[in-house]
Amino acid sequence: MLQKAYKFWFLTGSQDLYGDECLAHVAEHSKIIVEKLNASGKLPYELVWKPTLITDALIRQTFNEANADPDCAGVITWMHTFSPAKSWIAGLREYRKPLLHLHTQFNEEIPYDTIDMDFMNENQSAHGDREYGHIVTRMGIERKVVAGHWSDARVQERIASWMRTAIGLVESRNVRILRVADNMRNVAVTEGDKVEAQIKLGWTVDAYPVNEIAEYVAAVSQADTDALVDEYYNMYDILLDGRDEKEFRRHVAVQAQIELGFERFMVEKDYHAIVTHFGDLGALKQLPGLAIQRLEEKGYGFGAEGDWKTAGMVRVMKLMTAGMKDAKGTSMLEDYTYNLVPGKKGILQAHMLEICPSIAEGRIAIRCLPLSMGDREDPARLVFTSKTGRGIATSLIDLGTRFRLIINDVECIKNEKPMPKLPVATNFWRPMPDFETGVEAWIYAGGAHHTAFTYDLTAEQMGDWAAAMGIEAVFIDKDTTIRSLKRDLMLGQAFYR
Ligand code: MN
Repeated sequence: MLQKAYKFWFLTGSQDLYGDECLAHVAEHSKIIVEKLNASGKLPYELVWKPTLITDALIRQTFNEANADPDCAGVITWMHTFSPAKSWIAGLREYRKPLLHLHTQFNEEIPYDTIDMDFMNENQSAHGDREYGHIVTRMGIERKVVAGHWSDARVQERIASWMRTAIGLVESRNVRILRVADNMRNVAVTEGDKVEAQIKLGWTVDAYPVNEIAEYVAAVSQADTDALVDEYYNMYDILLDGRDEKEFRRHVAVQAQIELGFERFMVEKDYHAIVTHFGDLGALKQLPGLAIQRLEEKGYGFGAEGDWKTAGMVRVMKLMTAGMKDAKGTSMLEDYTYNLVPGKKGILQAHMLEICPSIAEGRIAIRCLPLSMGDREDPARLVFTSKTGRGIATSLIDLGTRFRLIINDVECIKNEKPMPKLPVATNFWRPMPDFETGVEAWIYAGGAHHTAFTYDLTAEQMGDWAAAMGIEAVFIDKDTTIRSLKRDLMLGQAFYR
């Protein structure tokens, strides 16, 4: 559901000043680079070699072919020799997809014994790429620059990482968010300008009356529901908490029916993210808990209490991490409660129910317990604790005149002790650079209590995503001080108005 067979194009720039033999070498070299990069096993998507670009007309045509090809998610450019940059203006002006400038050269070492002027003329990325970089900067085009030898594992990893950012940019334009009912009354931070989100980020954000979706839930057959409940019982531990086994199973079946009904509705109407609201459940018998957790694990975005911005971000981040080997997971989370004991400070992350099991560590259990919110039956939910290690928590907020994406590096830590009476999934993290600075910075920046969290992307990737979307990114990381953060916020205020 998440990963499409996108490709990236590799465009090599040159000119005809040095003759056909030189151009033959240029083509040969760039073919070898593409071949080796594809063979490296590091790139999540295939790189496609394109013929060397030396004329305005061919450059313009190639960029427009990249625009028009639905399988092309972006272009990587490299100037093997000098390529006069005025030739690139028409193509760059019309190009609309993600752009990476790979600043490399074919040879790793200067061939000291044989180097002559012919070699110098043929292998002059050091100044060809500067000429090209100049025009991209002058034209104000957002792009990624990666420098280093193409065989270097670190360079290959950075190209791979950018490819995931590019997928987030291209796929964001296809994100369609289903709002089941409206935002929770009186809540500010989950609100926002949906028209601006469509203009800036490409998201479609539509609302439906809850009972229109509840009809799809009610239409799910008993047989389909029973089959899914059997699947749950095979996959997860069952914690009855003293309930009657048959009664427990009936509660679980309500969530299975919601999972199937919601997914059928979303597939039929082509939605990839969903929000719910505990205060507007219509004919639904339970607040969707286990059902939403399963949908999130399949790759759907989710935001609670009508929070469509978080739902969109979770969806984008799931698309960016699609197919990643050893992925540790992506979920909506909420800052709930602090531990303020010196040396053990951190934020307990949870929600009423809806944390994605992709972030779970160890066994996952189904529990069915009362929920004070929502005025419905006790909902079944998946309960677990989460993996440890570094991650990023992001919050997309609407400041009235613009969007801001806040990105906080966090360190996820094992819960110090079990919490047997807490009937929800949890994570626990310490925000960078330290607890106090991290939370103070988050509050100065205006960050929400809901976050889109992942272990599998970096602040650099999300910052590049925001920059290419033309929205402000605020980083809170190991280098953040309150003074530096306030300066960043002032600069953002001046620049993004
Ligand atoms: Mn919430």
